[in-house]
Amino acid sequence: MLDFGSLLLATALSGACLSGTLVAIWLTARQSRFVLTMAVGILLLAAHVIAFWLYGRHASPWLGQAMLALLVAGFFVVFTSADQYIERGWSRSAALPVAAIIALTVVVTAAGFDGLGFVIAYSAVTGILVMIATAFWTSKNVDRRVLAPVSLLTGSSAVSFALCAFVIVQKKQWVLGSVPSNWAEDVNTVVVVACMTALGALTISFHHLRTQSRLTEETLTDPLTGLMNRRALNSLHGRTHFGPRMALAMVDLDHFKRTNDVFGHAVGDRVLQRFADIVRRQSRHGVEGFRLGGEEFAIVISDVPVVEAYEVLRKIGVSFGAEVVATKLGPLRSTVSVGVCFGDEQAMTVEQMLLGADAALYAAKRAGRNRVVTAETASSETYREELLFA
Ligand code: GH3
Ligand code: MG
Ligand code: MG
Repeated sequence: MLDFGSLLLATALSGACLSGTLVAIWLTARQSRFVLTMAVGILLLAAHVIAFWLYGRHASPWLGQAMLALLVAGFFVVFTSADQYIERGWSRSAALPVAAIIALTVVVTAAGFDGLGFVIAYSAVTGILVMIATAFWTSKNVDRRVLAPVSLLTGSSAVSFALCAFVIVQKKQWVLGSVPSNWAEDVNTVVVVACMTALGALTISFHHLRTQSRLTEETLTDPLTGLMNRRALNSLHGRTHFGPRMALAMVDLDHFKRTNDVFGHAVGDRVLQRFADIVRRQSRHGVEGFRLGGEEFAIVISDVPVVEAYEVLRKIGVSFGAEVVATKLGPLRSTVSVGVCFGDEQAMTVEQMLLGADAALYAAKRAGRNRVVTAETASSETYREELLFA
């Protein structure tokens, strides 16, 4: 049978290795700072476990102080890592109270009340674990799938640390002169061994999840304008039924080749960005903007009556026409042509909508540009037409 000391040392060793693995992962992905922070947190906890083992063999006051300080600091750094992951900013406000608790633990232990020191440290760890769980549950920034393992980990650890504190209080062991030894400590040791492994595994999966979602976002985003791209349009609306309260517009910048030729490509890029900004400003009206390629955009408007959707598109066109881009050759103004197709009772597909909008856009170009033309239905040849910017 494995003795308690060997178990503690094995836990510390596995913690240190885990910490090294996390550092190695961070070295290849420096933007994932929470991985490095977790490595530091786990290392502090491994150091605590060794100090705990040493304190059991020789209970010197300074060792007791360091051991308890390492426990609280280790869990606080774990909390900081979780906080960096979900971007809450809670750990910054918690830093001062946690530092005060560590100081209190140190003072109490230095005064000989190591049992009381354990109670304070265990209670602080319980509080930190509850904060981690709360931060995850109330964050909009996390994948819902991680809530179950995080809750299990923080929940079981919090209960086990609370029980350790409770047993010392119940026995009124304010002065211990050694490590506490009771059933709650035995349960806690098992929980902590499991926790170390789970913390490492969770950190690695968090890192993978984050990397995966960043990559997905990148493949769906146009880097110049920050709008979604054609792939995103297919992925978001490939199965959408465009009913009566939906519209799809194709927008093409007028004489954009001339803009590039006269003012240069960099100015052309700025014009594209200005247009994207204008589209984004309308996003609260159910507007989604996509750059299909070059100077061609698609705008999907959802859950808005026809009149309102038309008004939003007109507003985008008029705002863009009023936009002045300062260039070396003087102020530059541009216009757009818009072809819009409204959904109907037959619930059209995105392909049908694009066909209708494209035909309307072609009509807008032929009619002299700087206007919005409506395709009455996807297949209709009759268009309503309105000049955009005088
Ligand atoms: P029309 O009014 O008929 O649409 O004429 P146009 O000049 O806008 O259309 P055309 O298709 O002839 O030209 C599109 C130009 O868009 C050509 C290309 O150089 C430019 N373009 C495509 N992508 C980019 C880009 O990312 N940045 C810049 N600056 N220009 C681009
Ligand atoms: Mg054009
Ligand atoms: Mg074009």
